[in-house]
Amino acid sequence: MLAGLVTGHRRFELVEFPDPEPGPSVGVVAISRCGICGTDLHGFLGTDPYNPAICGHEWVGTVTAVGAGVGNVTEGDRVVLAAPPSCGACPECLAGRPAYCPVAFLGMVGRDRLAPKHGGFARSIAVDAARLVKVHAPITDDQAAVVEPAVVALHAVDRMLPRDGETVVVQGCGPIGLLTLQCAIARGASHVVAVEPAANRRALALQLGAAEALEPAEAKERFGRQGADLVYECAGVPATIQQAVDFARRGGRVDLVGLASGAATISPATWLVKEITVTAAIGHLHHEVAEVIDLIADGRVRTEPLHDRTVSLADLPAVIEQLADDPSSAIKVLVDPTA
Ligand SMILES: [Zn+2]
Ligand SMILES: [Zn+2]
Repeated sequence: MLAGLVTGHRRFELVEFPDPEPGPSVGVVAISRCGICGTDLHGFLGTDPYNPAICGHEWVGTVTAVGAGVGNVTEGDRVVLAAPPSCGACPECLAGRPAYCPVAFLGMVGRDRLAPKHGGFARSIAVDAARLVKVHAPITDDQAAVVEPAVVALHAVDRMLPRDGETVVVQGCGPIGLLTLQCAIARGASHVVAVEPAANRRALALQLGAAEALEPAEAKERFGRQGADLVYECAGVPATIQQAVDFARRGGRVDLVGLASGAATISPATWLVKEITVTAAIGHLHHEVAEVIDLIADGRVRTEPLHDRTVSLADLPAVIEQLADDPSSAIKVLVDPTA
């Protein structure tokens, strides 16, 4: 069986693996769709080794076999991959902080004992069955493949909730920004302003519920006069960290959602003068996945407008290279490993 992996700097290859086997606590899943994440592209462009277990982590499929001791899923269940549940036994869990359980975190980042040797760019995968969450019928495979980034967005919004009547900014309208926008509205935001340089992405933001969509220069003008109450920073580049604070009013809030790699320059005087509250969010928690599935099922989070196209495993190496060189050419490309 072939699996698509980042094997070096700007190198993505289809590598031969034995068919996955169901060991104890493990579920084997036949993958029907796997989304390409910005993290996969960063891995391709980076010089550090990219953990093979997370190369393709936004997938949906059908359970084909389970090992001894698996009770939460059975053969035939359609499932998505989630972070493991908190363990209930570590010092963080015992101190009442299950959100910071290292067992769950290490599983989410593919560093657990049962971490697979490849990710979801493959026909089949064997993972810790505790990480599998069932998806119900009205949700299509194309929608289910976007559950993982949608949970990342919901987790970020729940870290800093919008309040009644606030002006909320979503800075950066890639997949995470467009999902954060919808989750913020689902959590009660009434006036969301999208800030995004690309015209097609601004149009998508309006289609998905933004009240306004501004170019960055327009936003600087507008929020220089009167800052926003809450800014979700979803662009994930070093320069937009300070810009998020610049867009907020005195006493406002900023939530860092996009992962900027590299150092960012900030203006501490602005942070102090504004008495800004900043929080940050990474990944998601196991229990949040079922909630996102419901939000997608009832249409409050729409994933179809984000979906550009579906490609085959054979085409994937060329597609990864093209997306890495021109990331704004698509929002979400899915892989069908059965094609
Ligand atoms: Zn991702
Ligand atoms: Zn724990």
